[in-house]
Amino acid sequence: MTEPTPPAADGHPELKAPAISFEFFPPKTEEMERNLWETIKRLAPLHPNFVSVTYGAGGSTRERTHATISRILAETHLTPAAHLTCVDAPCADVDDVVARYHQVGVRHIVALRGDPASGIGGLYTPHPQGYRSSADLVASIKRRYPDIEVTVSAYPEKHPESASFDADLDTLKAKVDAGASRAITQFFFDNDLYFRYLDRVRAHGIEIPIVPGILPVQNFKQAANFAQRAGASVPHWLAEKFEGLEDDPDTRRLVAASVAAGQVHKLAKHGVDTFHFYTMNRADLVFAICHLLGIRARSAQKAA
Ligand code: FAD
Repeated sequence: MTEPTPPAADGHPELKAPAISFEFFPPKTEEMERNLWETIKRLAPLHPNFVSVTYGAGGSTRERTHATISRILAETHLTPAAHLTCVDAPCADVDDVVARYHQVGVRHIVALRGDPASGIGGLYTPHPQGYRSSADLVASIKRRYPDIEVTVSAYPEKHPESASFDADLDTLKAKVDAGASRAITQFFFDNDLYFRYLDRVRAHGIEIPIVPGILPVQNFKQAANFAQRAGASVPHWLAEKFEGLEDDPDTRRLVAASVAAGQVHKLAKHGVDTFHFYTMNRADLVFAICHLLGIRARSAQKAA
């Protein structure tokens, strides 16, 4: 089963623009913070459904994620979603983070298992007093705070640790049964991977939205490194498009915009009406891609 066929979103201005969300990471330095807030100011008028802020491995950005989320709540009209991992932490610590989020008004958590300190692919062992899996974390959040919306991860090329696609889909199903109402995918560059995965997901009896995670390639080498660590494939044609542009950032930006716009256009044409952008805390490419999708800046009462 595939997603319901839409009134073809082919970029025609009369068609409904898709829904979008943006992902940011918490800044490490004052300069990075200024840059993030410039990015948020530029993207906020596009009225995303939500903006999410990642949580560093093992809680390493716990305070920075919290501070970024709190500032988004205080200073913008945006709806924040806080990422949270349960790896390497006792349940009590993780619960404390959720309680603090709930207290400041966060009603959306992206709940993840996370990677062990040794990195993705290292052997995952739950903390002795910790959540055993991401599904356990989801269940705990929903049990204590039914008003918190929980989003989880999904892997069109399966997670590198999964023994098989079936094992991978069983994990996704467990997270949905525990109360997750949306999944965002790991980024991918070949749309067929997403559509094949969606068929598998639906055949597995999973009905929640599977929102494609789009990574505009700001820097090919860096994107290829991410992909390798995340178990995502990088097609030859993509490498070829960036070949020889190492010292030519202007052309690289144009190529990146055209590649990502092509990807989202094709997805939209086949009925995808919601996109999550991994912004890497940069606005220009994502803004341009959203513009090409028919999304226009609008003012808000409380400007970012
Ligand atoms: P799960 O969904 O629990 O599992 C993923 C797959 O791995 C499962 O399908 C399952 O088959 C397999 N698996 C899980 N546990 C085991 C096990 N014990 N043995 C064998 N197989 C197993 N990381 C961060 O640190 N911070 C973030 O903010 C963050 N945000 C993310 C957002 C998105 C949208 C995505 C897609 C990933 C994000 N990650 C983040 C990365 C994520 O933490 C890693 O991919 C991690 O390896 C898995 O966490 P998960 O919740 O996706 O795992």
